[in-house]
Amino acid sequence: MKKLSKKRFVFGFIFLGAFIGALFLGSQIFLWTQGTTIVANQQRTATSDSTTTSTSETPSASDLPAVSPTDWDLVLVGPNNQIIEEVAADQLTAISGSEEVDSRIVDAYNQLASAAEAAGYPLVVVSAFRSVADQQQVYDASVNRRMSEENISYEQAVEETNVQVTQPGYSEHHTGLAIDVVDSDWYNNYSNYASDMLDPLFGEQPAAQWLAANCAQYGFIIRYPEGREDITGITYEPWHLRYVGVDSAEYITSHNLTLEEYLALFN
Ligand SMILES: [Zn+2]
Repeated sequence: MKKLSKKRFVFGFIFLGAFIGALFLGSQIFLWTQGTTIVANQQRTATSDSTTTSTSETPSASDLPAVSPTDWDLVLVGPNNQIIEEVAADQLTAISGSEEVDSRIVDAYNQLASAAEAAGYPLVVVSAFRSVADQQQVYDASVNRRMSEENISYEQAVEETNVQVTQPGYSEHHTGLAIDVVDSDWYNNYSNYASDMLDPLFGEQPAAQWLAANCAQYGFIIRYPEGREDITGITYEPWHLRYVGVDSAEYITSHNLTLEEYLALFN
């Protein structure tokens, strides 16, 4: 009897160990299949660290570029981050017609545009800097139009507008660091494929693929990648470029991150 119960105990112990092991393995597989890049990245960095140095408390930050999340070109503005300080009017320079950006990114954009043209994709700037006041006008016009056309209350019109129009103060275009671009071929022919020039279908165009592959070396990222809506709060926008500086852009792109995930690595 005594022997049997001991055997049971041992078997139970082995079974429990196997169960915990399976749970652990399962949770790891779950994390991997979730595609949480930060987790994968941290694990990868931690592994490479252990072969070189084991002193760092935050291994994920060890290979980050020498930048600060408070740098002017890493400002975070979006659905959950209201702009604190709009770019000053005298800090703006036109890059195409009346479309303006922060003067500090003009050279970078011009170099990107030259390279794109040389590759066969002359760029067309659709939209760049937008002031909070301009966005307020667009927003108010949408609310008023919905109230009169749909005969709905102000509250309902605001609710509908919030789905379609960025709230004033929450657009990255307020920073002067965001540029919506397409190539001239899409600009002239998009109506053969899409109802809107700024349509995710642009992402299938060779020009958009060239931009995604090459914009980082000029300091830009595709700010709202496909399938990252849960992090950025914005659906796929292959035309929306954001300047973050060359080092950050190359890190973000090569690690398949969003700006939100990248900035979190500095915490
Ligand atoms: Zn945009």
